[in-house]
Amino acid sequence: MNGKLDSTEASSLIMGLKRFSYMARLRNIEFEGRCPYCGMESNADHFRQHAYRLRIFYVIFKGLVYKINAALPRWKCLLCSKTFTEYPNYILPRKRYTLPQIKILIGNTAKTSYRRTVMIGAAPIFYNHEAVETTDSIDESKSLPILSHTSLYRWKQFFTLS
Ligand SMILES: [Zn+2]
Repeated sequence: MNGKLDSTEASSLIMGLKRFSYMARLRNIEFEGRCPYCGMESNADHFRQHAYRLRIFYVIFKGLVYKINAALPRWKCLLCSKTFTEYPNYILPRKRYTLPQIKILIGNTAKTSYRRTVMIGAAPIFYNHEAVETTDSIDESKSLPILSHTSLYRWKQFFTLS
C-alpha cells in the first residue's frame, strides 16, 4: 500500500465531491445502481430524486484538512417506494474522511506509530480553518484543530469488523 497522501489524488477527491454535490443540487443526475432494498436495477426510469442531504467530508491536502460541504442525492425507488442516499464510491456512509485516504493512513499504522501516522514530517495534520466553508452551522472553534490519532483506532476497528 502506498503510504503517501498524494496531493493529486486529494485534489481530485475534493473536485469529485464538489462536482457530485453540484449535480445533486441541480437534480441533474440519474441513479446508476441498484435499490438497496428491493434490488431494482437502474436501467429504466425507476428512480426519482426527491431531495438531497447535506453532509460534511474531510479531505487531507498538503498537510491540511479541508472541510467539504456536499449534497448527496436522496432517491426514491418507484418499485418499493423506499428512499435511500447515494454516496460516491470513495465515501463510506458514516465516515467523514474518504476511503482512499483512510486506507493509506491505516496502512501506515503497520509501519509506524499511530501518532506518527497523523503527522507529515514533524508537524501534525492541521485543519484548515480559512478554507472552511460557511454554509453550515458547525462551530469550528469547538472541533479538533489537528487530525487525531484516535480516529485511526476507530477506522481500523471499523475495517476489522466489516
Ligand atoms: Zn426498491
